[in-house]
Amino acid sequence: MNKRTETLIKGVMPTYGRQPVCFTKGEGVWLYDEEGIQYMDMVSGVAVNALGHSTDLMVKALCEQAAALIHVSNLYWNKPQLELAEKLLSLAEGDFKDVFFCNSGTEALEGAIKLCRKYGQKNGKSKLVFMTNSFHGRSTGALSITGQPKYQEPFGALLPDCLSVAFNSMESLEGVLSAHGTEIAGFFIEPVQGEGGVIPIDQGFLNRIEAFCKENAALLVFDEVQCGAGRLGTYYAYQSIQVKPDIVCMAKGLGGGVPIGAIIANEKASVFEKSDHGSTYGGNPLMCAVALAVTKAISDHAFLEQVKMTSNYMTQQLEQMKDEGLIKAYRGSGLLLGIVVDDPAGVVQRAFENKLLLIAAGSDTVRILPPLNLTSGDAEVFMKRMRMVLNSSV
Ligand SMILES: *Cc1c(COP(=O)(O)O)cnc(C)c1O
Repeated sequence: MNKRTETLIKGVMPTYGRQPVCFTKGEGVWLYDEEGIQYMDMVSGVAVNALGHSTDLMVKALCEQAAALIHVSNLYWNKPQLELAEKLLSLAEGDFKDVFFCNSGTEALEGAIKLCRKYGQKNGKSKLVFMTNSFHGRSTGALSITGQPKYQEPFGALLPDCLSVAFNSMESLEGVLSAHGTEIAGFFIEPVQGEGGVIPIDQGFLNRIEAFCKENAALLVFDEVQCGAGRLGTYYAYQSIQVKPDIVCMAKGLGGGVPIGAIIANEKASVFEKSDHGSTYGGNPLMCAVALAVTKAISDHAFLEQVKMTSNYMTQQLEQMKDEGLIKAYRGSGLLLGIVVDDPAGVVQRAFENKLLLIAAGSDTVRILPPLNLTSGDAEVFMKRMRMVLNSSV
C-alpha cells in the first residue's frame, strides 16, 4: 500500500481482518492494486461478483439507468423494481407470490424474521429455530439467529424466543420439535452453510423440517444469500435440492456487486400489509436495473450449464489433490466449494502472497468462490496456483 493509503486506513473502524492491499481496478477474475499488481480473485467479493469485475453488461445497465433515474423512494413505482420482481418470480416457476426489496443479506433476513413473527402471532406461535454454525448477518435480529457465539457474545441480550438446533443432527432437531413444536413460527436454513465451512444440509434432516412446517403452520426460510443466484448451478439453491421453502432471502450475487437484497415469499408467508415494513433505498431503480441485467445473464440456461461444467472440472481437480494428499477433503457444489486443510488461515495467507485471493470458512476450510463465468483457461490457472500454494505449505 502507498503511504497515503496507510495513513487513511486509521480513519476506518477496525472491524475487518483485512489484507494490506487497496484495489483500484478489476476486470473479470482479475484485480489490480495501487501499484498495478495483478491478483486472481477467487473470493468474488464474497460470492457477490457473480459475473466478475466491471462486466460490460453491468456497466452498461448502471450507466444507462443512472442517466435516466437513480432514486425515487417507494412512495411511487419504478419500472426496474417491477421488472426485477417479475423476473425473480418467473424464475421460481410459480413457487412464490411476491417480493420485498432491501439493500443487503442482513436486511433480507431481518424482513424474513418479521414475516415469521407476524405469521406466528396470527397462529399463536413465537419461536424461531436456527442452526448451529449458521450465518445470517450482523444486525441484532439477524445475529439472534446466527449460531456462532463468537459473533453474539459481545452484544448482550438479543431477540428472545430463538432456539438453536445442531446442524444436521436429527436428535437435536427432534428434541426441539418435541419440546417446542407447537410454538415454532419459522425455521432459518442455509441450504449450504457458507461462512460456517461450506457444509450442505442433509436431505433427510431438511425433509423432516419441511414436513414439520407443512403440518404445523410454521414457515421454512431459506437463506440463499450466498448459495443462491446461480452459485449451485440452478438459479435458486432450492431448485438444486428439491425442497420448496416458504421464503427465500437473496442478496450478494443477486446484484453482482451493487447493494441489493430481496425477500421472496409464497402465499402462506406473504403476510406483510401496508406499513408493516419498508426501506428508503430498497428496490431503487439503479440497483434494480443492474440486478435485472445480472439476473437475466445468470439465469440463462446455457450459463447455468456452464457453471455446472466449471464445477465438474474444479471438483475433478480437487479429487486429484485429495488423492495426492494436498488437501484432506473438499465439500460443496456448483461454484461454492470448500477445501479442508490443517491451517486454513495459513493457506489463505500464502495464497495472498502468491497473488491468489481466497477466504477461510468455519474452523478447517478454505472457500473457493469464483465468479460464475470463470473461463476454463482461468480455472486451469487457478488450479496451478492452488497446487503451488498447497505444495509450499507442506
Ligand atoms: C453474507 C451473508 C449474509 C449477510 O449478508 P450482508 O449482505 O453482508 O448483510 C446473510 N446470510 C448469508 C448466508 C450470507 O452469506
